Amino acid sequence: MFKAVMIEKTTDGAQSVSVGDVADNQLPEGDVTVRVEWSTLNYKDALAITGRGPIVRSFPMVPGIDFAGVVESSQREDIKPGTRVILNGWGVGEKHWGGLAEKARVSGDWLVPLPDRLTTRQAMEIGTAGYTAMLCVQALQRQEVMPDKGPILVTGAAGGVGSVAIMLLGRLGYHVVAVTGRPEEDAYLIGLGAKEVLPRQAFSAPGKPLDKARWAGAVDVAGGVVLANVCASMAYGGVVTACGLAADMSFPSTVAPFILRGVTLVGIDSVMCPKDKRLAAWTRLAELIDPSKLEAMTSEIALDDAVNAATSLLDGKIRGRVVVRVS
Ligand code: NAP
Repeated sequence: MFKAVMIEKTTDGAQSVSVGDVADNQLPEGDVTVRVEWSTLNYKDALAITGRGPIVRSFPMVPGIDFAGVVESSQREDIKPGTRVILNGWGVGEKHWGGLAEKARVSGDWLVPLPDRLTTRQAMEIGTAGYTAMLCVQALQRQEVMPDKGPILVTGAAGGVGSVAIMLLGRLGYHVVAVTGRPEEDAYLIGLGAKEVLPRQAFSAPGKPLDKARWAGAVDVAGGVVLANVCASMAYGGVVTACGLAADMSFPSTVAPFILRGVTLVGIDSVMCPKDKRLAAWTRLAELIDPSKLEAMTSEIALDDAVNAATSLLDGKIRGRVVVRVS
């Protein structure tokens, strides 16, 4: 038996969430079984657990889009028992049982070896949010947005993706401008590496197709009007990485930033991201992460607390990252 968070459909079409014991023979298909040590609570997990977003594709479902742990058994020649591994995405926690459980059985193709420098806890302090932040930073670098090009805007700054993005960009020498709806977090954001903090209200009302040209690059987790305003205020040749919809799924923009300022909009997806890019992101994360800053932005909860914490996360009450102590 192993302990797991379980989401089930109720007869009235709603869903119920409980934490309880599950028999090993209930584990889904997969060629590698992992003893999960740490998981996390991401935005998507919170949507799945609360049912506020259509994340779960089949029931019953163990949520948790990421985990880090140790291989318990493997039918693969290339993945030995005892190997420390990370999993992000691939539909885990959506259509395949996920990481908010003491055990997970998955395809070995989905696993990334844990870089030597990281503990399984640190890997989940980074989690899918931090790995996505790294994908955004690497996309900016591929587009040649280097620190001398100008400031980088980060929206949703006090959340998981935003916090790690600020830490990484600050470490790389960028002038980071954080956008937050929580003015009480200004000191936290400066501590992470932001040079300036702007209020979210400055970006949340519909604006002009083109605004004052200010940013060389941007990491946007918000979408909606915020993303439209970010695009409108990019400097000539600026690059926006769009990875989230914390504000809205819509994109009420015009083509003006793209055809008059040569702005590039780069989509970032962590879920189906090819393995070579994942390995590159995790290798770079292990090099760049400041363990004490990472620890300072993280709160820890037990598996039993995941359900309550999901509501707090969606209500914008959680700062930075949440790790879940599984075993
Ligand atoms: P999170 O920890 O909940 O942070 C989201 C942050 O967005 C909040 O802390 C808040 O920051 C800001 N925010 C909330 N409501 C907003 C609004 N109405 N307008 C503008 N900003 C708002 O979530 P996360 O884990 O960082 O994820 C952020 C987004 O990225 C989510 O939409 C998530 O689904 C997406 N994501 C996508 C991928 C991918 O593969 N593309 C991977 C991971 C996450 P402040 O309080 O500082 O304003």
